[in-house]
Amino acid sequence: MTTLILNGCAVITMNATRAEYASGHIVVDGNRIAEVGAGPAPGGVPGARYIDGGGCLATPGLVNTHQHLYQWATRGLAQDFGLFGWLKALYPVWARMDADIVRAVSTAALAWLARTGCTTTTDHHYLFPRGGGDLLGATVESAREVGLRFHPTRGSMDLGRSAGGLPPDDAVEDTDEILAATAAAIDRFHDPSPDSMLRVAVAPCSPFSVTGNLLGQAAELARRAQVRLHTHVAETSDEDEYCVSHFGCSPVEYLDALGWLGSDVWVAHAVHLDDAAIARLAATGTGVAHCPSSNARLGAGICRARDLLGAGVAVGLGVDGASSNEAGSLLEQARHAVLFARAAGGAEAMSVRTALELATLGGASILGRDAEIGSLEPGKLADVALWRLDTLPHGDIDDPVAALVLGSPPPLELLLVQGRAVVERDRALTVDERAVAAAARAARKTLLARAGVTS
Ligand SMILES: [Zn+2]
Repeated sequence: MTTLILNGCAVITMNATRAEYASGHIVVDGNRIAEVGAGPAPGGVPGARYIDGGGCLATPGLVNTHQHLYQWATRGLAQDFGLFGWLKALYPVWARMDADIVRAVSTAALAWLARTGCTTTTDHHYLFPRGGGDLLGATVESAREVGLRFHPTRGSMDLGRSAGGLPPDDAVEDTDEILAATAAAIDRFHDPSPDSMLRVAVAPCSPFSVTGNLLGQAAELARRAQVRLHTHVAETSDEDEYCVSHFGCSPVEYLDALGWLGSDVWVAHAVHLDDAAIARLAATGTGVAHCPSSNARLGAGICRARDLLGAGVAVGLGVDGASSNEAGSLLEQARHAVLFARAAGGAEAMSVRTALELATLGGASILGRDAEIGSLEPGKLADVALWRLDTLPHGDIDDPVAALVLGSPPPLELLLVQGRAVVERDRALTVDERAVAAAARAARKTLLARAGVTS
């Protein structure tokens, strides 16, 4: 078993007492954390690799709770649209993707997530063009190659425009086909073990792109298979109006009526919520993936994160797809969570430590992994980010957490996933970044040419 010892770094544990060490150590044995504490680690451990963490801050690896990896292929398009206009512009392009394109751009998106401190990520893939090949399998291959802990969802849409939905008819699937493919994805990929690097969830896309029938049957399927449920909800005021006009209720009431609230569900965005909806999310234990950058890019609004937390709702952070968040940086979500909460609710609306908690333990919690990841504690899986804070942009910021969350994105000295080094000194170790970027560029070019988009 390989032993890795980080020495002399500041440590934010996110353990039950939220212990912090100005200078501490972490001992990793194999894929698990063996020790975390103040001061130096024991010296002279035979065969151990000692890493000098001087000038660095160790945090739990960040957890990305909402993402659409394929959207890396269409960054920079539909720049000035709100959600519905943006979707209508991009659905026809996405409807022409295939497994090779998805594999190339997913590897790029995942490599960049790793470079920005992410050790566990979800993916919500909901568009499966007929004849496009094994798209979900392509994302799984990419995650294995990059080395991230992966929680893909088998997403879906079955409500085309001719039936009153938003997506074009050629972008949706048949309900029974979706349910069969979702069950097959769980059988093929889902690993429920505590050390799992891959867990599947079930994720019909949104109230305006799936039928109530699919939502209901998908919930039954997920509960039979004991996997989690995920969807978009209350992202924009347009969606609110759609639900009122089509279903006579708010998006959260709609989900509630279909059995879609519960401690096995996490929803993305939850921007347009009234107090009753927040209370209902809290009472049912439903988690929220807060995606501040994407919500700002699409002009959707600012999630009531302070009120959600105040009500006891578990909240994590998500970058969302790169077509509505070109930066694709997970650390940036912590910064934006603080800034937007304060812009909306005053200087005490969110602290930097709360933002870092959402990015780590909060995310782990809404994915059902908080017993295994999200904090630096003996016995937990060794997912660790080591940030360099002694250079020009951060060296004189008094508090390392303020430096990390409020300062410029710092160099990432080391990223461990399952005890394995995936990033070192701002460079991915598992993939060739230049080759990945070139392949993603080529895939994008192919997709846009196929869709007849000139850019
Ligand atoms: Zn999304």
